[in-house]
Amino acid sequence: MLLPYNLRYLQNACQTASDPKVVASVRYSVQSKIMELLSESPDIQQLLLDPIASLNTADDFREYLSSAEMHLAEFPQLTEKQIRKLFPKNKKLALPDLSVDYRFVTYLGWVDISSTKLFIVYPLDGQVVGIEGKYTPTHKKSVCFLCNRHSETALFTAVSKARPAHASPDYYKAVGNYMCLDSRECNKHITNVDALEKFIRSVIGT
Ligand SMILES: [Zn+2]
Repeated sequence: MLLPYNLRYLQNACQTASDPKVVASVRYSVQSKIMELLSESPDIQQLLLDPIASLNTADDFREYLSSAEMHLAEFPQLTEKQIRKLFPKNKKLALPDLSVDYRFVTYLGWVDISSTKLFIVYPLDGQVVGIEGKYTPTHKKSVCFLCNRHSETALFTAVSKARPAHASPDYYKAVGNYMCLDSRECNKHITNVDALEKFIRSVIGT
């Protein structure tokens, strides 16, 4: 993805060009290039294009780039077999739709309605990990802890594998959060992975 190069060009124009018309024309050409690059995905296109109109300071660019790169970093292509391996205890694992456009996937999330389980697959520190838990639809809108939108959410609770040093054999700790029921929509709006990574770490116990 050539986004960083195009943006550097615009940042340079913002910081050095004294003529606002020059900045405007560079901005326009960068926007058209991004539009071209993302022609198949109108939602993400809007998400990436709209903020460009108001990028000016070095901080603006830094912030925008880190959120944009997250949207465009390739999620690893996974096979059904690899996914099953992540959840060995689920003999009848419901599989997610793997024919998605991975450029726009930050995490893979799906639900198994029959067991009311929710699954998340994510490349944490370069290694693909899977977590699972129960989901309870809230039947009302609340703020998703991943994308921070007000949306139809479910309470997702997972059992943490982290154990204190001298825990009793029946030690049990659940961690939970409200998250979007529709993970495809959630993926379109997530701009920061800190909450997701923190949650995954609290479940897998690293
Ligand atoms: Zn969400």
